[in-house]
Amino acid sequence: MRAAVLALQGAFAEHEHMLDELGVPYFEIREEEDLKKPFDALLLPGGESTVQGKLLKDLHLFPALLDRIRDGLPTLGTCAGMILLAQKIENDEKKYFGTMPVTVRRNAYGRQLGSFHTMGEYKGIGQIPETFIRAPYITEASPETEILSKTDGKITAARYQNQTALAFHPELDQDTRVYEDFFRHI
Ligand code: GLN
Repeated sequence: MRAAVLALQGAFAEHEHMLDELGVPYFEIREEEDLKKPFDALLLPGGESTVQGKLLKDLHLFPALLDRIRDGLPTLGTCAGMILLAQKIENDEKKYFGTMPVTVRRNAYGRQLGSFHTMGEYKGIGQIPETFIRAPYITEASPETEILSKTDGKITAARYQNQTALAFHPELDQDTRVYEDFFRHI
């Protein structure tokens, strides 16, 4: 089992720290050459979805990763990663991978004051720390999408087949259980 971390922009080092904690081997995807290495799971970090989306295309990483996600590659997307996976972005015409049948709202908590920390109930785990930074949330999910967490009534974590999307940043807290849950479902 080896994971790949998309390392173009954003909080990828923090995900890697979590993988180190769990003893999961990984490498970074930065250029097309990296896609030749075998990997069994993909982590899409938080950051700026527009920047990441542009770099994915400019660096010719997009088509191959899209194929792998469509083919069932276990994928964990946090925050901007959730936006990259969403089939529809409510307040943006753009679409990136679009492999997860959910609609998201970008910067859903407002741009400036949109960062906060809370505790939330996560399906199968219990109470976990949830850190939100200019986060999206899910406004609509297909019936096949499993809701994993809600914050103030908004869907902030969900799983669809091979894909798990989180509006918050588990990589910024010390709790590894969301990762363990993700790897358990592989
Ligand atoms: N606001 C960012 C976006 O729309 C996401 C923020 C984050 O990943 N922390 O891409």
